[in-house]
Amino acid sequence: MLKLTKYILLATIFLVSVFTSFYFIDVFNEKNMELQKQILVKQAQTHFKDQVNTRVWNASYGGIYAIPKEGQKPNPFLRDNILKVDENLTLIKINPAWMSRQLSEISHIDGFHFRITSLKPINPDNKATPFEERALNHFENTNEKEYYEIDEDSEFNYMGALFTTNYCLPCHKHQGYSLGDVRGGISVSLDSKEYFEVTSSIKTRVILLKIFVVVFLFSIFLLIFKQLRYSQKLEDEVKRRTKEIESTKQLLQEIIDTDSSFMVLADGKDVIYANKTVLDFTGYSSIEEFKKNYEYMSDLFEYVEGNSNFIQTYNDGIHWIEYLVKEQDSKTLKVCIEKNDKHRYFKPYAKEIKTEDKMLYLITFDEITKEYVKIKELEHMASTDALTGLFNRNKLNDVLEKEIALSRTISSPLCVIFLDIDHFKEVNDTHGHGVGDKVLIELANIITSSIRTGDIAARWGGEEFMITLQATSLANASILGEKLRVKVEEHLFGTVGKITISLGITEYINGESEESFIKRVDEALYEAKEAGRNKVIVK
Ligand code: GH3
Ligand code: MG
Ligand code: MG
Repeated sequence: MLKLTKYILLATIFLVSVFTSFYFIDVFNEKNMELQKQILVKQAQTHFKDQVNTRVWNASYGGIYAIPKEGQKPNPFLRDNILKVDENLTLIKINPAWMSRQLSEISHIDGFHFRITSLKPINPDNKATPFEERALNHFENTNEKEYYEIDEDSEFNYMGALFTTNYCLPCHKHQGYSLGDVRGGISVSLDSKEYFEVTSSIKTRVILLKIFVVVFLFSIFLLIFKQLRYSQKLEDEVKRRTKEIESTKQLLQEIIDTDSSFMVLADGKDVIYANKTVLDFTGYSSIEEFKKNYEYMSDLFEYVEGNSNFIQTYNDGIHWIEYLVKEQDSKTLKVCIEKNDKHRYFKPYAKEIKTEDKMLYLITFDEITKEYVKIKELEHMASTDALTGLFNRNKLNDVLEKEIALSRTISSPLCVIFLDIDHFKEVNDTHGHGVGDKVLIELANIITSSIRTGDIAARWGGEEFMITLQATSLANASILGEKLRVKVEEHLFGTVGKITISLGITEYINGESEESFIKRVDEALYEAKEAGRNKVIVK
């Protein structure tokens, strides 16, 4: 509807422009035509005035006498129409009217002639032509003193009024003339061919000008129309695309929001968008509100000891987003976030999105809390002895491998203590297996409380325990072994009472295998048993 109004308005402006231009062209044209006519009028007026002046001059003498031309008779309508000068010369009287007529008779040259006339001429030759009658009637009916017409024979007819003067009265008084009356006039005819040529040329030019104006305006308005249509199309297209983008955005937003994963869009270090799941989880209504409380989203990430796969704000000096993009394929990166005093675990994944002017990152966080906790439990079960809570043999093998590697790297002494309860079979046989278990648990506690942080104790099997002592010399290891032996010897194990242990101790020899290291300490223990039990043998 709005579009149609626009076009109607344009068409109206076009028509108004055309008609306004035509109006001004016509006004100009009329002025031009009038000017041409005025040139003719001026010409005719000049001729008329010439004649009037001549007549006034003649009248001022009361007519003049002239030598008659051959065969020329005096004017019978005039009084005193001759003047006898002598026997040989008789002059004839020429009054203004006869003079005008004579002049008019010789004026038929070059498309110009004039005539004197009257509605009631004394001389029948001065009888008015139809034009002259119209002019004289016009003088009678109006106060105007001149009248003109352009007839179809390309002739311009002009008549100026003649007033009755004293000089007229002697001849015309009997016709009822009184002073000042207009009873006749001098008509001037001019060839108006040139006038018609000029005016028709002007008319042609006006038509051409009008055609040009129409074509010119039409071209301009056509251009405007095209431009309007083009902008309209463009506007429609922009509207359509904007709507499309908006609905796509909304759809995308809905999809992203319904996704149970955390989803954020980051611009370098800065998170610029977070889906509903993130906001619901963190308890903020918008990303802006979230940013008021945290500089980076990674401020939420918890530090997890002993596991470098958990991302922090900076990892090896690299910001977390960059680090994630770089390392996500080679490492199993994780994120830990605390919520309501519980740790929740996520697996982040970043996808680069190249836009025209920058790189964005779509980062998703899939929750893996259940899986992670399960794995941790399994890992714990696989590495821990269920009865004593100490590492099991399997785990100790791993630990030992790492301890040996560390000892080699930093050239620090590594020792192991291998211990076994003496005559434990008897304990079981006497007190039962359950009591035996309690003894094992109590012994494990004694061992744990006797070693340093960093020393690792494990249940090797049955009633045998192994302790690794990093950065400990053999001498210090044997001191610890002896202390432990005494501690156990002196301890009362409930209904069982006193028990003893035998211990073998050895130090890792650089370059040897784990097997030979273990074998040696096993031999040391064997020797302690052989030596009568409740002994420490260092090998
Ligand atoms: P020795 O001084 O030579 O070491 O004698 P011993 O009796 O301690 O050695 P032996 O190898 O003959 O017996 C070990 C006993 O440890 C046998 C088994 O009943 C007991 N034992 C092994 N594991 C457990 C356990 O988990 N719980 C209980 N209660 N007893 C266990
Ligand atoms: Mg034993
Ligand atoms: Mg044993």
